[in-house]
Amino acid sequence: MDCIFCKIVDGTIPSKKVYEDDKMLAFYDIEPAAPVHIVMVPKEHIASADELNEENSAVVAHIFSKAGEIAKSVGLKGGYRIVNNCGPDAGQTVFHIHFHLMGGKPLGKMC
Ligand code: 5GP
Ligand code: ZN
Repeated sequence: MDCIFCKIVDGTIPSKKVYEDDKMLAFYDIEPAAPVHIVMVPKEHIASADELNEENSAVVAHIFSKAGEIAKSVGLKGGYRIVNNCGPDAGQTVFHIHFHLMGGKPLGKMC
C-alpha cells in the first residue's frame, strides 16, 4: 500500500522515533507546528478516524494511554495538545490515522 506512515512503521522511510511497541509508533513530525511536535500512529493501517469501529478502535485508547509517558519522555512539562485531523476539511494530508502531540510553549486557542 502506498502509505507514508505504513512505510515509516515498516522502516522503508526513516523517522526520528520517540516511542514504539507492538501496536504503535511515535516519531517527530518532519514539519513541526510547535516546539515539540510528535506524530502517534497505530501500526495497523486505518485511513482516518472516520474508519474507526468496535473492532479496530482499541488501539486509539492504547495510543492515548501512552501519550503522557511520551510527553514526559521528551520533556513536556506544561501540558500538551493532542489533535486528530479527519478528512479534507480538517486538513488531513496523510490518510493513515494519527494523533499530533504538540507542546513546548503555550499553544493558544485552537482556531
Ligand atoms: P495531517 O495533516 O494529515 O493531520 O498530518 C500529517 C503530518 O505528517 C504533517 O504534520 C506532516 O508534516 C507529517 N509528515 C508527512 N510526511 C512525513 C514524513 O515523511 N515524515 C515525518 N516524520 N512526518 C511527516
Ligand atoms: Zn498506512
